[in-house]
Amino acid sequence: MKYYSTNKQVPEVSFEKAIFQGLPDDNGLYMPKTITQLPRAFFENIHDMELHDIAYEVAKCYIEDEIPEEELRKIVAGTLSFDLPLVEVEDNVYALELYHGPTCAFKDVGARFLARCLSYFSRQSDKKATILVATSGDTGSAVASGFLGMKNINVVILYPKGKISKIQEQQLTTLGENITACEVEGTFDDCQKMVKDAFLNLELKEKYNLTSANSINMARLVPQSFYYFWTYAMLGGDKDLYISVPSGNYGNLTAGLLAKKMGLPIKQYIASANANDIVPAYLRSGNFEPRRSVETISNAMDVGNPSNFYRMNDLFGAEVDNFRNELKGYTYSDEQTADTIKQVYGDTGYLLDPHGAVGYLGLKEYMKDHDGIGVFLETAHPAKFLDVVEPIIDEKVEIPQRLQDYIEREKVAIEINADLGQLESILEKL
Ligand SMILES: *Cc1c(COP(=O)(O)O)cnc(C)c1O
Repeated sequence: MKYYSTNKQVPEVSFEKAIFQGLPDDNGLYMPKTITQLPRAFFENIHDMELHDIAYEVAKCYIEDEIPEEELRKIVAGTLSFDLPLVEVEDNVYALELYHGPTCAFKDVGARFLARCLSYFSRQSDKKATILVATSGDTGSAVASGFLGMKNINVVILYPKGKISKIQEQQLTTLGENITACEVEGTFDDCQKMVKDAFLNLELKEKYNLTSANSINMARLVPQSFYYFWTYAMLGGDKDLYISVPSGNYGNLTAGLLAKKMGLPIKQYIASANANDIVPAYLRSGNFEPRRSVETISNAMDVGNPSNFYRMNDLFGAEVDNFRNELKGYTYSDEQTADTIKQVYGDTGYLLDPHGAVGYLGLKEYMKDHDGIGVFLETAHPAKFLDVVEPIIDEKVEIPQRLQDYIEREKVAIEINADLGQLESILEKL
Protein backbone atom coordinates (compact mmCIF):
# COMPACT_ATOMS: atom_id res chain seq x y z
CA MET A 1 0.00 0.00 0.00
CA LYS A 2 1.26 3.46 -0.88
CA TYR A 3 0.71 6.44 1.40
CA TYR A 4 0.43 10.01 0.17
CA SER A 5 0.74 13.25 2.10
CA THR A 6 -2.38 15.36 2.48
CA ASN A 7 -0.27 18.35 1.35
CA LYS A 8 0.81 16.41 -1.78
CA GLN A 9 4.27 18.00 -1.89
CA VAL A 10 6.28 14.82 -1.29
CA PRO A 11 6.41 11.44 -3.07
CA GLU A 12 4.24 8.53 -1.99
CA VAL A 13 5.85 6.11 0.43
CA SER A 14 5.43 2.56 1.76
CA PHE A 15 3.69 1.75 5.06
CA GLU A 16 7.11 1.20 6.63
CA LYS A 17 8.38 4.61 5.55
CA ALA A 18 5.12 6.30 6.55
CA ILE A 19 5.27 4.98 10.09
CA PHE A 20 8.98 5.70 10.61
CA GLN A 21 8.56 9.22 9.28
CA GLY A 22 5.34 9.84 11.16
CA LEU A 23 4.97 13.27 9.63
CA PRO A 24 5.78 13.83 5.94
CA ASP A 25 8.35 16.55 5.22
CA ASP A 26 5.70 18.85 3.72
CA ASN A 27 3.91 19.03 7.08
CA GLY A 28 0.91 17.11 5.79
CA LEU A 29 -0.35 13.76 7.11
CA TYR A 30 0.00 10.37 5.51
CA MET A 31 -3.12 8.75 4.12
CA PRO A 32 -3.56 5.44 2.30
CA LYS A 33 -3.65 5.99 -1.45
CA THR A 34 -6.61 3.67 -1.83
CA ILE A 35 -9.02 2.51 0.79
CA THR A 36 -9.50 -1.21 0.36
CA GLN A 37 -13.08 -2.44 0.30
CA LEU A 38 -13.62 -5.59 2.30
CA PRO A 39 -15.75 -8.15 0.45
CA ARG A 40 -19.41 -8.73 1.25
CA ALA A 41 -18.59 -12.22 2.52
CA PHE A 42 -16.40 -10.68 5.22
CA PHE A 43 -19.34 -8.69 6.60
CA GLU A 44 -21.63 -11.72 6.37
CA ASN A 45 -19.22 -13.85 8.39
CA ILE A 46 -17.97 -11.19 10.76
CA HIS A 47 -20.47 -12.05 13.50
CA ASP A 48 -18.86 -15.48 13.87
CA MET A 49 -15.25 -14.31 13.68
CA GLU A 50 -12.76 -13.93 16.51
CA LEU A 51 -11.48 -10.44 17.33
CA HIS A 52 -7.92 -11.28 16.25
CA ASP A 53 -9.05 -12.64 12.88
CA ILE A 54 -11.16 -9.56 12.20
CA ALA A 55 -8.26 -7.31 13.17
CA TYR A 56 -5.86 -9.24 10.95
CA GLU A 57 -8.12 -8.88 7.89
CA VAL A 58 -8.44 -5.15 8.51
CA ALA A 59 -4.72 -4.62 9.13
CA LYS A 60 -3.85 -6.49 5.94
CA CYS A 61 -5.76 -3.91 3.90
CA TYR A 62 -3.33 -1.24 5.08
CA ILE A 63 -0.09 -3.18 5.17
CA GLU A 64 -0.55 -5.69 2.34
CA ASP A 65 2.62 -7.73 1.87
CA GLU A 66 4.99 -5.48 3.81
CA ILE A 67 4.62 -7.72 6.85
CA PRO A 68 4.17 -11.48 6.28
CA GLU A 69 0.93 -13.06 7.46
CA GLU A 70 2.40 -14.94 10.42
CA GLU A 71 4.18 -11.84 11.74
CA LEU A 72 1.16 -9.61 11.25
CA ARG A 73 -1.04 -12.07 13.12
CA LYS A 74 1.45 -11.98 15.99
CA ILE A 75 1.47 -8.18 15.97
CA VAL A 76 -2.32 -8.08 16.08
CA ALA A 77 -2.56 -10.63 18.87
CA GLY A 78 0.15 -8.86 20.89
CA THR A 79 -1.67 -5.55 20.44
CA LEU A 80 -5.10 -6.84 21.47
CA SER A 81 -3.99 -8.86 24.46
CA PHE A 82 -6.94 -7.59 26.52
CA ASP A 83 -10.72 -7.53 26.20
CA LEU A 84 -12.85 -4.89 24.46
CA PRO A 85 -16.16 -5.38 26.29
CA LEU A 86 -19.42 -3.85 25.09
CA VAL A 87 -21.39 -3.09 28.23
CA GLU A 88 -25.09 -2.29 28.03
CA VAL A 89 -25.59 0.83 30.13
CA GLU A 90 -29.25 1.36 29.25
CA ASP A 91 -31.59 -0.22 26.70
CA ASN A 92 -29.84 0.03 23.33
CA VAL A 93 -27.01 2.17 24.73
CA TYR A 94 -23.63 0.48 25.00
CA ALA A 95 -20.23 1.53 26.31
CA LEU A 96 -17.36 0.12 24.27
CA GLU A 97 -14.77 -0.13 27.02
CA LEU A 98 -11.39 0.43 25.47
CA TYR A 99 -9.52 0.81 28.74
CA HIS A 100 -8.63 -2.73 29.73
CA GLY A 101 -5.06 -2.46 28.49
CA PRO A 102 -1.96 -1.84 30.61
CA THR A 103 -2.38 1.95 31.01
CA CYS A 104 -6.18 1.97 31.22
CA ALA A 105 -6.87 4.08 28.12
CA PHE A 106 -7.72 3.29 24.50
CA LYS A 107 -4.39 4.69 23.41
CA ASP A 108 -2.83 1.38 24.42
CA VAL A 109 -4.27 -0.11 21.25
CA GLY A 110 -2.53 2.31 18.90
CA ALA A 111 0.70 2.46 20.87
CA ARG A 112 1.07 -1.30 21.14
CA PHE A 113 0.47 -1.80 17.42
CA LEU A 114 2.90 0.95 16.48
CA ALA A 115 5.59 -0.40 18.81
CA ARG A 116 5.24 -3.89 17.34
CA CYS A 117 5.32 -2.67 13.74
CA LEU A 118 8.39 -0.50 14.34
CA SER A 119 10.07 -3.34 16.14
CA TYR A 120 9.32 -5.71 13.24
CA PHE A 121 10.75 -3.32 10.66
CA SER A 122 13.86 -2.51 12.71
CA ARG A 123 14.62 -6.14 13.56
CA GLN A 124 17.79 -6.12 11.49
CA SER A 125 18.84 -2.52 11.93
CA ASP A 126 21.48 -1.19 14.29
CA LYS A 127 20.36 2.45 14.00
CA LYS A 128 18.75 3.78 17.16
CA ALA A 129 15.40 5.51 16.65
CA THR A 130 13.91 8.20 18.90
CA ILE A 131 10.19 8.33 19.40
CA LEU A 132 9.19 11.91 20.14
CA VAL A 133 5.68 12.32 21.41
CA ALA A 134 3.50 15.10 22.82
CA THR A 135 0.74 14.08 25.18
CA SER A 136 -2.40 15.62 26.60
CA GLY A 137 -2.45 12.80 29.12
CA ASP A 138 -2.97 9.31 27.85
CA THR A 139 -0.78 9.05 24.76
CA GLY A 140 2.43 9.44 26.74
CA SER A 141 1.67 6.64 29.13
CA ALA A 142 0.46 4.28 26.43
CA VAL A 143 3.55 4.96 24.33
CA ALA A 144 5.87 4.66 27.32
CA SER A 145 4.31 1.33 28.29
CA GLY A 146 4.18 0.10 24.67
CA PHE A 147 7.86 0.80 24.02
CA LEU A 148 9.36 0.13 27.45
CA GLY A 149 12.56 -1.87 27.22
CA MET A 150 12.53 -2.08 23.40
CA LYS A 151 15.99 -2.33 21.97
CA ASN A 152 17.14 0.40 19.58
CA ILE A 153 14.37 2.80 20.60
CA ASN A 154 14.45 5.82 22.92
CA VAL A 155 11.19 7.51 23.85
CA VAL A 156 10.96 11.22 24.69
CA ILE A 157 7.62 12.44 26.02
CA LEU A 158 6.55 16.09 26.22
CA TYR A 159 3.65 16.90 28.52
CA PRO A 160 2.15 20.19 29.71
CA LYS A 161 3.14 20.91 33.29
CA GLY A 162 0.24 20.79 35.74
CA LYS A 163 -2.31 19.97 33.05
CA ILE A 164 -2.54 16.22 33.30
CA SER A 165 -3.86 14.15 36.16
CA LYS A 166 -1.59 12.85 38.93
CA ILE A 167 -1.98 9.25 37.83
CA GLN A 168 -1.32 10.13 34.21
CA GLU A 169 1.86 11.92 35.26
CA GLN A 170 3.02 8.95 37.33
CA GLN A 171 2.41 6.66 34.37
CA LEU A 172 4.83 8.51 32.16
CA THR A 173 7.46 9.70 34.60
CA THR A 174 8.19 6.57 36.62
CA LEU A 175 9.27 3.96 34.10
CA GLY A 176 12.91 4.88 33.52
CA GLU A 177 14.94 2.68 31.14
CA ASN A 178 14.52 4.00 27.58
CA ILE A 179 11.76 6.45 28.54
CA THR A 180 12.47 10.18 29.18
CA ALA A 181 9.69 12.50 30.35
CA CYS A 182 9.86 16.29 29.83
CA GLU A 183 7.57 18.55 31.81
CA VAL A 184 6.91 21.53 29.53
CA GLU A 185 5.98 25.01 30.72
CA GLY A 186 2.98 25.46 28.37
CA THR A 187 -0.12 23.78 26.96
CA PHE A 188 -0.59 20.56 25.01
CA ASP A 189 -0.68 22.63 21.83
CA ASP A 190 2.77 24.00 22.69
CA CYS A 191 4.02 20.44 23.16
CA GLN A 192 2.49 19.33 19.89
CA LYS A 193 4.02 22.30 18.11
CA MET A 194 7.48 21.42 19.47
CA VAL A 195 7.10 17.93 18.04
CA LYS A 196 6.01 19.32 14.68
CA ASP A 197 8.89 21.83 14.66
CA ALA A 198 11.39 19.12 15.55
CA PHE A 199 10.16 17.03 12.62
CA LEU A 200 10.27 19.97 10.23
CA ASN A 201 13.90 20.57 11.24
CA LEU A 202 15.37 18.02 8.84
CA GLU A 203 18.82 18.15 10.38
CA LEU A 204 17.46 17.36 13.81
CA LYS A 205 15.14 14.71 12.46
CA GLU A 206 17.96 12.97 10.62
CA LYS A 207 20.50 13.24 13.44
CA TYR A 208 18.28 11.64 16.05
CA ASN A 209 16.32 9.43 13.66
CA LEU A 210 13.11 10.96 14.98
CA THR A 211 9.84 9.07 14.70
CA SER A 212 6.46 10.21 15.91
CA ALA A 213 4.03 8.21 17.97
CA ASN A 214 1.26 10.80 18.03
CA SER A 215 -2.08 10.04 16.49
CA ILE A 216 -0.66 11.51 13.29
CA ASN A 217 1.18 8.19 12.87
CA MET A 218 -0.66 5.82 10.52
CA ALA A 219 0.28 2.81 12.64
CA ARG A 220 -1.85 4.22 15.44
CA LEU A 221 -4.84 4.85 13.23
CA VAL A 222 -4.93 1.41 11.65
CA PRO A 223 -5.54 -0.58 14.87
CA GLN A 224 -8.01 2.00 16.12
CA SER A 225 -10.31 0.92 13.32
CA PHE A 226 -10.31 -2.70 14.60
CA TYR A 227 -12.76 -2.00 17.37
CA TYR A 228 -15.34 -0.41 15.10
CA PHE A 229 -15.44 -3.68 13.16
CA TRP A 230 -15.60 -5.54 16.46
CA THR A 231 -18.58 -3.45 17.56
CA TYR A 232 -20.39 -4.25 14.35
CA ALA A 233 -19.54 -7.94 14.77
CA MET A 234 -21.07 -7.93 18.23
CA LEU A 235 -24.07 -5.62 17.76
CA GLY A 236 -24.61 -5.00 14.05
CA GLY A 237 -27.40 -6.53 12.08
CA ASP A 238 -30.95 -5.40 11.52
CA LYS A 239 -30.92 -2.16 13.45
CA ASP A 240 -29.08 1.04 12.62
CA LEU A 241 -25.83 1.45 14.52
CA TYR A 242 -24.64 4.84 15.79
CA ILE A 243 -21.23 5.44 17.32
CA SER A 244 -20.30 8.47 19.38
CA VAL A 245 -16.61 9.25 19.69
CA PRO A 246 -15.37 11.60 22.42
CA SER A 247 -12.78 13.52 20.44
CA GLY A 248 -9.75 15.75 20.83
CA ASN A 249 -7.19 15.20 18.10
CA TYR A 250 -9.73 13.18 16.07
CA GLY A 251 -7.55 10.11 15.54
CA ASN A 252 -10.13 7.78 16.94
CA LEU A 253 -12.93 9.22 14.85
CA THR A 254 -10.81 9.25 11.69
CA ALA A 255 -10.12 5.54 12.22
CA GLY A 256 -13.88 5.00 12.43
CA LEU A 257 -14.50 6.94 9.25
CA LEU A 258 -11.83 4.89 7.47
CA ALA A 259 -13.57 1.72 8.67
CA LYS A 260 -16.82 2.96 7.16
CA LYS A 261 -15.07 3.68 3.86
CA MET A 262 -13.86 0.07 3.91
CA GLY A 263 -17.51 -0.93 3.87
CA LEU A 264 -18.41 -1.13 7.55
CA PRO A 265 -22.14 -0.39 7.88
CA ILE A 266 -22.17 2.26 10.59
CA LYS A 267 -25.21 4.46 10.09
CA GLN A 268 -23.96 7.55 11.87
CA TYR A 269 -20.82 8.79 13.59
CA ILE A 270 -21.09 11.45 16.24
CA ALA A 271 -18.19 13.74 17.15
CA SER A 272 -18.59 14.60 20.83
CA ALA A 273 -16.41 17.40 22.14
CA ASN A 274 -15.81 19.38 25.31
CA ALA A 275 -15.42 23.18 25.23
CA ASN A 276 -12.67 22.70 22.64
CA ASP A 277 -15.31 22.26 19.97
CA ILE A 278 -13.32 23.07 16.84
CA VAL A 279 -14.90 20.34 14.70
CA PRO A 280 -18.53 20.75 15.87
CA ALA A 281 -18.06 24.49 15.25
CA TYR A 282 -16.76 23.69 11.77
CA LEU A 283 -19.87 21.61 11.08
CA ARG A 284 -22.01 24.59 12.09
CA SER A 285 -20.15 27.41 10.39
CA GLY A 286 -18.17 25.76 7.59
CA ASN A 287 -15.01 27.46 8.85
CA PHE A 288 -12.17 25.46 10.38
CA GLU A 289 -10.81 27.78 13.03
CA PRO A 290 -8.19 26.33 15.38
CA ARG A 291 -7.67 28.27 18.57
CA ARG A 292 -5.81 27.94 21.85
CA SER A 293 -7.14 25.06 23.87
CA VAL A 294 -8.95 25.63 27.13
CA GLU A 295 -8.73 23.32 30.13
CA THR A 296 -11.61 21.01 30.90
CA ILE A 297 -12.23 17.98 33.10
CA SER A 298 -11.95 15.75 30.01
CA ASN A 299 -8.37 16.89 29.62
CA ALA A 300 -7.24 14.36 27.01
CA MET A 301 -9.58 16.16 24.61
CA ASP A 302 -8.23 19.65 25.28
CA VAL A 303 -6.96 20.15 21.77
CA GLY A 304 -7.32 23.47 19.97
CA ASN A 305 -5.89 22.43 16.61
CA PRO A 306 -6.91 18.86 15.89
CA SER A 307 -4.33 17.38 13.52
CA ASN A 308 -6.56 14.74 12.03
CA PHE A 309 -8.95 17.32 10.63
CA TYR A 310 -6.95 17.26 7.41
CA ARG A 311 -7.31 13.51 7.08
CA MET A 312 -11.07 13.81 7.49
CA ASN A 313 -11.01 16.67 5.03
CA ASP A 314 -9.44 14.39 2.43
CA LEU A 315 -11.94 11.62 3.16
CA PHE A 316 -14.75 14.11 2.62
CA GLY A 317 -13.28 15.69 -0.53
CA ALA A 318 -12.81 18.98 1.33
CA GLU A 319 -16.57 19.59 1.20
CA VAL A 320 -18.27 20.76 4.35
CA ASP A 321 -21.56 19.28 3.12
CA ASN A 322 -19.97 15.84 2.97
CA PHE A 323 -18.77 16.35 6.52
CA ARG A 324 -22.27 17.32 7.56
CA ASN A 325 -23.79 14.23 5.93
CA GLU A 326 -21.40 11.83 7.58
CA LEU A 327 -20.87 13.43 10.95
CA LYS A 328 -22.93 15.03 13.67
CA GLY A 329 -21.09 17.16 16.20
CA TYR A 330 -22.03 18.19 19.71
CA THR A 331 -20.23 20.02 22.46
CA TYR A 332 -20.64 19.91 26.26
CA SER A 333 -19.51 21.97 29.21
CA ASP A 334 -17.76 20.59 32.28
CA GLU A 335 -20.94 21.11 34.23
CA GLN A 336 -22.96 18.96 31.83
CA THR A 337 -20.22 16.34 31.89
CA ALA A 338 -20.15 16.21 35.69
CA ASP A 339 -23.96 16.13 35.95
CA THR A 340 -24.02 13.22 33.53
CA ILE A 341 -21.44 11.20 35.47
CA LYS A 342 -23.50 11.69 38.60
CA GLN A 343 -26.84 10.96 37.00
CA VAL A 344 -25.79 7.86 35.06
CA TYR A 345 -24.02 6.48 38.11
CA GLY A 346 -27.09 7.10 40.26
CA ASP A 347 -29.56 5.67 37.73
CA THR A 348 -27.65 2.67 36.43
CA GLY A 349 -24.59 2.13 38.64
CA TYR A 350 -22.35 2.59 35.58
CA LEU A 351 -19.40 4.88 36.25
CA LEU A 352 -18.40 7.01 33.26
CA ASP A 353 -15.05 8.72 33.03
CA PRO A 354 -15.20 12.39 31.96
CA HIS A 355 -14.35 11.55 28.32
CA GLY A 356 -16.83 8.72 28.07
CA ALA A 357 -19.42 11.02 29.63
CA VAL A 358 -19.00 13.49 26.76
CA GLY A 359 -19.41 10.59 24.32
CA TYR A 360 -22.50 9.40 26.15
CA LEU A 361 -24.05 12.88 26.01
CA GLY A 362 -23.51 13.16 22.24
CA LEU A 363 -24.98 9.72 21.68
CA LYS A 364 -28.07 10.44 23.76
CA GLU A 365 -28.62 13.73 22.01
CA TYR A 366 -28.56 12.06 18.61
CA MET A 367 -30.74 9.18 19.75
CA LYS A 368 -33.48 11.52 20.95
CA ASP A 369 -34.90 11.28 17.46
CA HIS A 370 -33.16 8.25 15.99
CA ASP A 371 -34.07 4.68 16.86
CA GLY A 372 -31.40 2.06 16.73
CA ILE A 373 -28.43 0.85 18.72
CA GLY A 374 -26.03 3.39 20.10
CA VAL A 375 -22.46 2.89 21.22
CA PHE A 376 -20.17 5.42 22.84
CA LEU A 377 -16.47 4.83 23.28
CA GLU A 378 -15.33 4.63 26.88
CA THR A 379 -11.80 5.80 26.26
CA ALA A 380 -10.28 5.68 29.76
CA HIS A 381 -10.84 4.05 33.13
CA PRO A 382 -12.58 6.45 35.55
CA ALA A 383 -9.85 5.79 38.14
CA LYS A 384 -7.46 7.74 35.91
CA PHE A 385 -9.41 10.86 36.91
CA LEU A 386 -9.93 10.38 40.62
CA ASP A 387 -9.68 14.11 41.40
CA VAL A 388 -12.58 14.76 39.07
CA VAL A 389 -14.75 11.71 39.51
CA GLU A 390 -14.70 11.10 43.27
CA PRO A 391 -16.13 14.48 44.29
CA ILE A 392 -18.84 14.16 41.63
CA ILE A 393 -20.18 10.85 42.88
CA ASP A 394 -19.09 11.50 46.45
CA GLU A 395 -17.63 8.00 46.72
CA LYS A 396 -14.23 6.36 46.51
CA VAL A 397 -13.36 4.84 43.16
CA GLU A 398 -11.62 1.51 43.16
CA ILE A 399 -8.20 1.74 41.55
CA PRO A 400 -7.10 -1.19 39.37
CA GLN A 401 -3.86 -2.74 40.58
CA ARG A 402 -2.01 -1.86 37.38
CA LEU A 403 -2.66 1.83 38.09
CA GLN A 404 -1.89 1.51 41.78
CA ASP A 405 1.58 0.18 40.89
CA TYR A 406 2.42 3.46 39.16
CA ILE A 407 1.28 5.60 42.06
CA GLU A 408 3.84 4.09 44.37
CA ARG A 409 6.84 4.83 42.15
CA GLU A 410 9.12 7.88 42.06
CA LYS A 411 8.55 10.62 39.48
CA VAL A 412 11.50 11.60 37.27
CA ALA A 413 10.91 14.43 34.75
CA ILE A 414 13.04 17.12 33.14
CA GLU A 415 11.50 20.60 33.29
CA ILE A 416 11.81 22.64 30.10
CA ASN A 417 10.24 25.62 28.36
CA ALA A 418 8.39 25.20 25.08
CA ASP A 419 11.69 25.70 23.27
CA LEU A 420 13.24 23.53 20.59
CA GLY A 421 16.79 24.31 21.73
CA GLN A 422 16.11 22.92 25.18
CA LEU A 423 14.60 19.82 23.66
CA GLU A 424 17.64 19.33 21.47
CA SER A 425 19.99 19.42 24.44
CA ILE A 426 17.96 16.60 25.98
CA LEU A 427 18.15 14.55 22.79
CA GLU A 428 21.89 15.07 22.76
CA LYS A 429 22.32 13.50 26.16
CA LEU A 430 20.29 10.35 25.52
C1 LIG B 1 -6.77 10.85 23.54
C2 LIG B 1 -8.05 10.67 24.23
C3 LIG B 1 -9.25 11.08 23.64
C4 LIG B 1 -9.30 11.78 22.31
O1 LIG B 1 -8.95 10.93 21.25
P1 LIG B 1 -8.56 11.54 19.83
O2 LIG B 1 -8.22 10.37 18.99
O3 LIG B 1 -7.37 12.43 20.08
O4 LIG B 1 -9.71 12.31 19.36
C5 LIG B 1 -10.42 10.82 24.32
N1 LIG B 1 -10.42 10.24 25.53
C6 LIG B 1 -9.28 9.84 26.13
C7 LIG B 1 -9.35 9.23 27.48
C8 LIG B 1 -8.06 10.04 25.50
O5 LIG B 1 -6.95 9.65 26.09
